[in-house]
Amino acid sequence: MFYRSVSTPIVKPVNGLCNLSCSYCYASGLKECITGDYMRVETLKFVIDFFCCEQDHIEFIWHGGEPLLAGLDFYRKAIEFQHPWKQKGRKIVNFLQTNATLVTPEWTRFFAKNNFFVGVSLDGPKESHNQVRRYQSDKGSYDAVMRGVNLLRQAKIFNGIICSVSTLNYNSPKELFNFFITKNIKKLKFARVKNIGHCGDISSLTVSPSQYTDFMIAIFDLWLELDDPEVEIRDIQSVVNLILGGDKRECIYLGRCDQFATVYSNGSIYSCDSFPNMDTLRFGSVSDNPIIVRSNQRLKNFQKILKRRKARCRVCNWYFICKGGCARNCYEQFDSIEPLDEVCENLKRYFEHISVKIKSCGIIR
Ligand code: SF4
Ligand code: SF4
Repeated sequence: MFYRSVSTPIVKPVNGLCNLSCSYCYASGLKECITGDYMRVETLKFVIDFFCCEQDHIEFIWHGGEPLLAGLDFYRKAIEFQHPWKQKGRKIVNFLQTNATLVTPEWTRFFAKNNFFVGVSLDGPKESHNQVRRYQSDKGSYDAVMRGVNLLRQAKIFNGIICSVSTLNYNSPKELFNFFITKNIKKLKFARVKNIGHCGDISSLTVSPSQYTDFMIAIFDLWLELDDPEVEIRDIQSVVNLILGGDKRECIYLGRCDQFATVYSNGSIYSCDSFPNMDTLRFGSVSDNPIIVRSNQRLKNFQKILKRRKARCRVCNWYFICKGGCARNCYEQFDSIEPLDEVCENLKRYFEHISVKIKSCGIIR
């Protein structure tokens, strides 16, 4: 299927700046990498024009740090700059990922009016959430997050939860699952806490691929048992769809890591933000011509590596789902071609489990 490289922007209007200080935060290290934390209006205009000028359908993903720190006027400007492109027939969708502590009725009115989809980070019940997602003062953020979630729900713009899986909660999948269901939160994504190198010592919270796979398998079984079509767990949904012959994918199963671009507040374009800001993955700036960015030698080099990985993985039985896996988490080094044994074995175990289970339910033969 045709796709364009550097076409889905993850925009960080305040880089790694945040009003919380979560124990496992990978974004905090970004502050040191790029100076000038707040994106200027001129840069924002470049961002919108860069990504709208060549595509009919654009998804902006506003991210942080905490993206609401950029302020309402910043997003009003973004909508203003998107308007002429919409007039020309572009389909533009805005997604925003927030810790929800700064959400107010004014924000939700703005998001609802402009059709934003707003996702929230929440790590489960109050006690476990508050152990890791805290203010700099050490106070837990749970009550403020839930207040924000409720406002977003009332405005019908709530786009589900991302829950980080760390050593604090990976052993309690059932409690976590039941917590979300009893709170009527039915759109979920789980994310493994891993030592990805932006910040200092977070090793006590990191879970291994094997621990995470055990967790996800338990979540899958709970999901299957509950049998509620409204419950959507993004990673599981992708795998099930692909096994059933559909095509709905999370980025980790797309095999198109060069499609995603992180835009920092100074307009620099890097690969997806799972990678630290490595010079080898800086492809240019939003003030450059998109053609120049797409012909950037570093991008070409990255694409060459992705291609070689896919070629190596093509013989795998699970290639139709995995497509060589996440470029950041399946490989030891930026230019490794062989996936990490531990990650690869656990991916196969996960796919096998789901496949066997849905076959035994008679959904497929
Ligand atoms: S590197 Fe991983 S997280 Fe980033 S786009 Fe690729 S699959 Fe997604
Ligand atoms: S499971 Fe492993 S070998 Fe198979 S496609 Fe994924 S990364 Fe490659």
